[in-house]
Amino acid sequence: MSNVNRQFLLAARPAGMIKETDFRYNEAPIPEPDDGEVLVRVEYISLDPSMRGQMQSDVAYAAPLDLGVVMRARGVGRIVKSRDVSFPEGAMVSGTLGMQEYAIGSERVDRFRIFDDSLDPKVVLSTLGGTGLTAYFGLLDVGKPKGGDVVVISGAAGATGSVAGQIAKIKGCTVFGIAGTDEKCEWLTGELGFDGAVNYRAQDVAAALDRLCPNGINVYFDNVGGEILDICLARLAMNARVVICGGISRYNLEGEPPGPKNYFNLVYRRARMEGFLAGDYAPRFEEALTEMQGWIETGKLKQRETVIEGFENLPKALIKLFEGANIGKMMVKV
Ligand code: NAP
Repeated sequence: MSNVNRQFLLAARPAGMIKETDFRYNEAPIPEPDDGEVLVRVEYISLDPSMRGQMQSDVAYAAPLDLGVVMRARGVGRIVKSRDVSFPEGAMVSGTLGMQEYAIGSERVDRFRIFDDSLDPKVVLSTLGGTGLTAYFGLLDVGKPKGGDVVVISGAAGATGSVAGQIAKIKGCTVFGIAGTDEKCEWLTGELGFDGAVNYRAQDVAAALDRLCPNGINVYFDNVGGEILDICLARLAMNARVVICGGISRYNLEGEPPGPKNYFNLVYRRARMEGFLAGDYAPRFEEALTEMQGWIETGKLKQRETVIEGFENLPKALIKLFEGANIGKMMVKV
């Protein structure tokens, strides 16, 4: 192995949409692990909407990154050197590995987790990774779906939304997805078994939901915020639950983002709107992973991913995520 560790460093705080020049390519020597640490050769790097927030100095949910440091990112790879007996060389590991080919880290600091060799690393990064866990706890713990409920999911063909929708189907709900292309909608209703899907770029979402959910929405799982959140707030059933998972429509906005106009319908419908962060559920990750692995094995939970080849394409892949170029999890194969 050469002694070069290719990396992307955070070069600038983004203004509006992320630009490739917000990152700087760097070559560093491959580091040596200390006691209690491992060296991981990264195989796939996940692109997540939250990376936009983490590039800012005022990130609300994580320690801010200094300019000039390796950009934070989740990834999956193999341990090539270990100085921790519980993390053997050769094991597949996932965690916050960063935008780099080799990462040093530990279970304690970087939340590294070992996965069984029989698993596909792309599944480890997606359905059994941060986005799958987000869907699981957001839908089940915050959304509390009951059999027969009408569940609407925005960003439905993305990594989180596609898992949340399938779990809602497993729980006996009627599920409608909102996504940005006809191809995405066909995947939702075809392969994933959603009961309907709306292309928000081509259709009138309000009219489509009036037709699909004449008795209102029991659970709205929101990944996008903005106008779609408002449309769904206006269509809540009695005692509905609105799960605020994300608000991607606002992440690249400059200036004040719009607030929801229709929030007062929460009062009329005795409804609840609640945000959550998946990381808060870490003590229960094992329980979720066991259940989701069972659903994967029995074919109830399917995954698709959009893999962009080549380490050098990382900044482009992050930008493409915000353009909706992905179906399922967006990742780069290193
Ligand atoms: P993703 O859904 O796989 O990818 C993002 C998708 O968002 C794109 O494919 C695009 O699909 C859609 N999108 C982009 N810009 C949009 C806009 N302006 N309006 C509406 N849709 C837009 O990403 P993900 O990683 O699964 O994340 C989904 C959401 O969950 C994000 O909001 C993220 O921040 C949130 N999240 C929250 C937590 C938590 O702990 N609360 C954890 C992970 C993720 P279309 O073609 O459909 O537009």
